[in-house]
Amino acid sequence: MKLVSFSLPMRSVRARFLLAAVVVEAVMLTLLVSNSLRLMNSYLVEQVEQHARQITPVLTAATIAPMAQRDYATVQSVLDESLSQKGVSYLVVVDTQNNRVASSGWPKDQPLPKPDSGIDLSLAAGIPVHHVQTPILMFGQRLGTMYMGLDLSHILAARKALLTQGALIAAGELAMSALLLMVLGLWLTRHLVDLTRASREVTAGNLSPAPVNEGDDELGQLGAAFNAMSRTIKQRVQDLVQAKEQAEQSNHAKSDFLATMSHEIRTPMNGIMGMTDLVLDTRLDAEQRELLMAVKTSANALLGIINEILDFSKIEAGKVELEAIEFDLEQLLRHCLAPLRARAEGKGLKIESMASGTLDTHLVGDPNRLRQVLNNLIGNAIKFTSRGGITVGWECRAETPHSFRFWISDTGIGIPEDKQGSVFEAFTQADNSTTRNYGGTGLGLTISSTLVHLMGGKIQLVSAVGKGSTFEFTLPFKPGRPLNTLVLEAPAQASALAPHGTDASTQAHGLHVLLVEDHPINQKLALSLIERAGHRVTLAHNGEEGLHLAMQHPFDLVLMDMQMPVMDGLEATRAIRSHEAAHKLARLQIVAMTANAMPSDRQACDDAGMDGFLSKPFKAEDLRDLLRQTQERLAVAQ
Ligand code: ADP
Repeated sequence: MKLVSFSLPMRSVRARFLLAAVVVEAVMLTLLVSNSLRLMNSYLVEQVEQHARQITPVLTAATIAPMAQRDYATVQSVLDESLSQKGVSYLVVVDTQNNRVASSGWPKDQPLPKPDSGIDLSLAAGIPVHHVQTPILMFGQRLGTMYMGLDLSHILAARKALLTQGALIAAGELAMSALLLMVLGLWLTRHLVDLTRASREVTAGNLSPAPVNEGDDELGQLGAAFNAMSRTIKQRVQDLVQAKEQAEQSNHAKSDFLATMSHEIRTPMNGIMGMTDLVLDTRLDAEQRELLMAVKTSANALLGIINEILDFSKIEAGKVELEAIEFDLEQLLRHCLAPLRARAEGKGLKIESMASGTLDTHLVGDPNRLRQVLNNLIGNAIKFTSRGGITVGWECRAETPHSFRFWISDTGIGIPEDKQGSVFEAFTQADNSTTRNYGGTGLGLTISSTLVHLMGGKIQLVSAVGKGSTFEFTLPFKPGRPLNTLVLEAPAQASALAPHGTDASTQAHGLHVLLVEDHPINQKLALSLIERAGHRVTLAHNGEEGLHLAMQHPFDLVLMDMQMPVMDGLEATRAIRSHEAAHKLARLQIVAMTANAMPSDRQACDDAGMDGFLSKPFKAEDLRDLLRQTQERLAVAQ
């Protein structure tokens, strides 16, 4: 037990108590010793005085007769004899004319001292002699005066001895008291040391420290309370850890649910949108076309709402994953603005775009999230503006080369000042009639501001009712290299299906595509899109079938679904890649075509060895872009 600590830093209670006790004791002992000395002094002084009183009459009596007869030789011999007596240091007799008639022990050439008025032992420290002067009288007639010095050295020696002994005894007493107090202090504070040790252990994370001593006294009760407290803390922490694990599990279940739901909804949406596009591309009468366009618009709107709800759920679950990939901002803005311009023109509005500053637009960041924010803000500007126009601006300041400021201004209905803060809250619209008049979920700005925030920026709003609104945000990016590769995923709000046909070059160098897809409607959609683009397709219904076909035929491109029965797309891709490695074959281009649209899914595709990613629901144009890019790359490779 490491209880005894002899280093006593002054911050410990024990040391302070000890110091206080020692000081008190030292003061008391000093008082005691000094008082003893004082008493002893007065006793000794009394002794000296008594001695003087006793000796003086005897000595003067012995000199009366010789002085009367002026027998100074006898006086001298009396003095010499008396000097030998203990305690007398000198004797001098003078006659009435003050002539020295006899002297013993006092130097002849020195003047005689004045008598002391009293005995002061402290003054006597230097010359330990008490000077006394006594008249020599006979029948009242003065014969002379005797000067006498009483030796005080033995008294001083006694005083010194007493002082030394007193100091030694006091020091011993102090040392013993200090030791006793220290032991007592240790005994009293042993629980505190124990408590401190246990508290430090708990602070350091050990929630089961060795229990401290308990008892009936106050410190013992404190120990018992501490033990109870550390047991409770341990229990609470266990409860919290359990609750956290449960919350994490629920969160996990929620994201699984989200992923599944996303997949389940996107798959039929792909069918609806793709098939609508396909039918729209056939010969239709005006009414049929109009009805189908309505289906297409509704499907687009539904997809927008589903995407917003999924995004919002991801934000709520803290599951938003940002990408850091290279992209060209200028290209992104061009792609983003094209369909929005078409939409604005449909309402008789013009979108003006302005860029300022020297733009190095090859950046690293999350282009899809940026596109989402721009789509939302510009989409809102179009939605809430009926007259005037919209300006989309971006600039890069020289002092922050890769930090861009974007702003979207409109001349629309504006937002009342008291609503400008709340429009960024979920499911909030500036006006209750907004949904009725303009539609919308009230989630777009919440998602946009969260995404901008996650990307390291902040959205600001300036608006006046009836005059218009300006949304502004700044985003930092990292510098990227000029891109050669094109982003395979198409803009989320791509324009309506462009009229297409099989161009001559496509027909001349048609691709042989392996489509690995289990969903019958998506099979049909992809097959007809690929064939209409002038390429050959072979269909595999699951990953295993796809793997066998890929090993037997030289395909130009594999479009691989991810979730399939028998063998999923990831496993099939891994198997194809290891087959290529084993047989030293050229790398086959494999592009994921899946409704699993989370960034983690993309990562899984990358890890499995896929070359690209086309998320469902995709537009016919997206697939055609992909086929065109593949063709171009193959042409360059040849
Ligand atoms: P939604 O547009 O789906 O309703 P948002 O979160 O995008 O949801 O917008 C929230 C609300 O903010 C809108 O309903 C509208 O009241 C207001 N708002 C957003 N942008 C504008 C704008 N450019 N002009 C006027 N009001 C706007």
